[in-house]
Amino acid sequence: METKEAKPTLSSNFIKTIMTEDINAGKVKTIVTRFPPEPNGYLHIGHARAITINFELADEFGGRTNLRFDDTNPVKEDVEFVNSIKEDIQWLGFEWDGLFFASDYFEEMYNRAVLLIRKGLAYVDEQTADQIRETRGTLTEPGKESPYRNRSVEENLDLFERMRKGEFKDGEKVLRAKIDMASPNINMRDPVIYRILHAHHHNTGDKWCIYPMYAYAHPLEDAIEGITHSLCSLEFEDQRPFYDWVVRECEMEQVPRQYEFGKLNITNAILGKRYIKRLVEEGVLDGWDDPRVMTISGMRRRGFTPEAIRAFIRETGVSKSNGTVDSRMLDHFIREDLKLKAPRTMAVLQPLKVVITNYPEGQVEMLDAEINPENPDMGIRQIPFSREIYIERDDFMENPPPKYFRLFPGNEVRLKNAYFIKCEEVVKDADGNVVEIRCTYDPATKSGSGFTGRKVKGTIHWVEATQAAPAEFRLYEPLVLDDREEDESEEESDRINPNSLEIQTGFVEPNMKDAAPHDKFQFFRHGYFNVDPKHTTKEKLVFNRIVSLKSSFEV
Ligand code: ATP
Ligand code: MG
Repeated sequence: METKEAKPTLSSNFIKTIMTEDINAGKVKTIVTRFPPEPNGYLHIGHARAITINFELADEFGGRTNLRFDDTNPVKEDVEFVNSIKEDIQWLGFEWDGLFFASDYFEEMYNRAVLLIRKGLAYVDEQTADQIRETRGTLTEPGKESPYRNRSVEENLDLFERMRKGEFKDGEKVLRAKIDMASPNINMRDPVIYRILHAHHHNTGDKWCIYPMYAYAHPLEDAIEGITHSLCSLEFEDQRPFYDWVVRECEMEQVPRQYEFGKLNITNAILGKRYIKRLVEEGVLDGWDDPRVMTISGMRRRGFTPEAIRAFIRETGVSKSNGTVDSRMLDHFIREDLKLKAPRTMAVLQPLKVVITNYPEGQVEMLDAEINPENPDMGIRQIPFSREIYIERDDFMENPPPKYFRLFPGNEVRLKNAYFIKCEEVVKDADGNVVEIRCTYDPATKSGSGFTGRKVKGTIHWVEATQAAPAEFRLYEPLVLDDREEDESEEESDRINPNSLEIQTGFVEPNMKDAAPHDKFQFFRHGYFNVDPKHTTKEKLVFNRIVSLKSSFEV
């Protein structure tokens, strides 16, 4: 009997427990979550955790998830980022219910700020940003109250309106919540909730010259959309009291609750937007989608699949603390995903010409080869064989060390899917470099013929020389070599691994000439590769190595 495969889900975790309790207690009918990126960069693997948690948990309870762009800071935001974020979420396989922009709520946020002023819970401060910072106090000392803290409601209303009208310059005034300058939680010491910024906004244009601060705007956005569980990463934990204060004092009808989960970090990777941005601007990276960087678009270009990324995220789970995960764990999931899906073919990355002297000149025969021996349903492909082939340069050694079973003078090896060949002669150029190998082949040893006459110890791969398709292979190592915490200071460019990209030029089987961007293959002995969408041309295929075949690391 066929059983329907259950949809994979996140294993039990504290957020799921809370949601179950809230539903059982009748506190919420429908779970509503949101993913709230700031459109100031591309999404990375860390965001994939936040996305998966928000979308999969709501889905499990039959709920909804909004995509909301938290675009309250006009200066750093851009439509390019809005579009890339949408594309990445869809590519990961998630569908949002509502699509919103925080900037759509500016008018409502303004009105709620007016309400706070009326209630005596907000005031216009004229201190400079430095003064405000200096009077905030420390963990052990309370802050100092602003001399403007006790203005009348009328005065505050008038000044706030004039701030909106554009009567003041950037930084001249701010609106602050009036809470408690002695609170043990520094976030409650009269946080700034509006600032003046004469800047063009990608969504609202020049309509506004005052902008709400994230900590004030975010709870309102959640409440307006009827979010029930506002899930965010751990650094927002100290903001939770202010989050609740805003929802309560602004008298929002719907009351969202904030829960924090641990951030995902990956060894040998760079995730911070600011850092990636700088590397892109400095030309160290080939765009935000450079296959070495763990942005979603970089991973897509490298050849990772949504299935592998989601399986990886599920495996790392949802915990209450930040965690660093070994990047090799991702490799495990992509190998698992591609094992049965990717056609297997031969590619020669560093070619050395081999002439088979006893093979008839001008003759080409077609040999059968399985497309994927682990998945016979994929069928058979045909590969040409003739007098001239390419093999991998390091599959030949003139003076081999002991236990070298590949090609060397006098030795016989099997050509994968073809014949035994024996090395008879080495051709060198004037400088003594090996430029060609001359071999003989034994027609009786054809693959699949059942030949049992004698055995050879080595099997090497090859491609037929006259029809082979030229290709470029991009091999990657981690972008950074150490596992230090991310630091965005200038000297950090030093961390970049100078060997993170190695380009080789060789050949693939002719049947791959029509490969399309993002087609994935397993190259015999070399690993899994993805056709690069950016550099592949009609003349030349460019492949990104996703991952090699083996690793010592298994989950
Ligand atoms: P970064 O600075 O690392 O690029 P960010 O936190 O500034 O990321 P936002 O656009 O504000 O990016 O993030 C959107 C959501 O993704 C937030 O809810 C945030 O908590 C979550 N998030 C960001 N980075 C991670 C991470 N490494 N692990 C889990 N969640 C993350
Ligand atoms: Mg952020």
